[in-house]
Amino acid sequence: MTTQIKSLLLDTRLPRLEVRMLLEHVLAKPRAWLLAHDTDPLAPETAAAYQALAQRRLAGEPMAYLLGQREFMGHMFRVTPDVLIPRPDTEVLVETALECVAGQSAPAVLDLGTGSGAIAISIALARRDARVMASDVSAAALAVAAGNAWELTASVRFVEGSWYDAVPAGEGFDLIVSNPPYVASDDPHLGQGDVRFEPRGALTDGADGLEDLRRIVAGAHRHLKAGGALWMEHGWDQAEAVRGLLAAAGFTDVHSRRDLAAIERISGGRWPGRG
Ligand code: GLN
Repeated sequence: MTTQIKSLLLDTRLPRLEVRMLLEHVLAKPRAWLLAHDTDPLAPETAAAYQALAQRRLAGEPMAYLLGQREFMGHMFRVTPDVLIPRPDTEVLVETALECVAGQSAPAVLDLGTGSGAIAISIALARRDARVMASDVSAAALAVAAGNAWELTASVRFVEGSWYDAVPAGEGFDLIVSNPPYVASDDPHLGQGDVRFEPRGALTDGADGLEDLRRIVAGAHRHLKAGGALWMEHGWDQAEAVRGLLAAAGFTDVHSRRDLAAIERISGGRWPGRG
């Protein structure tokens, strides 16, 4: 007996949108094709491929890992379990970064802990003149990021290492951005939903959630030009603490911005420099 595409579209175990996306993925066809061909017979191996993905989805694996991609800032990024899945909330960090360097030509930008490269690559694509460097401590993550830069034709220099250890001495930046791990190690959220499948090291600092943010703030002055800016993403309840870190380190014009859910999601400031 042959299965029709239609019979899988009626799979009620998963939300309709997810069923459709998984089917489009195994068939490698767009939505319009799927709807016009819903009475076509489905090859047994395609049906099996769908069932395998559906089972993994039912076991909780994120859609982005099953599909191997996620859109961010209008670009499609390849993602694997080696990297955090780009979040729409992080777009405010990219938008703010672009505003920061709006008046400068050939700005030097550093993205610390780049993961899939979503932030660095989005900046590089929006500002073709920018000199963008991106670091990660994970070689596997850097391989994903470099693949994305290649696919999207972004010019980004990737460096491997922990935070500023990765950055060659003497490089001065107009802007440093980061979406570091900021979830506290005892946050029950780590055991729920998609994040269970994401790299633990990209989510939590293994401490109170502010450890890596502190490190990034503390080292920034050695890598920022006078007047350069630092912007970081952080947790829903960390804005005040991060503003405090920035102010205590000597940053001026310290403030936070809200994400799509109106939560203060990023904080930053300007390094006045000396003299
Ligand atoms: N926003 C992510 C979450 O809530 C955490 C990302 C991060 O730690 N940088 O799961």
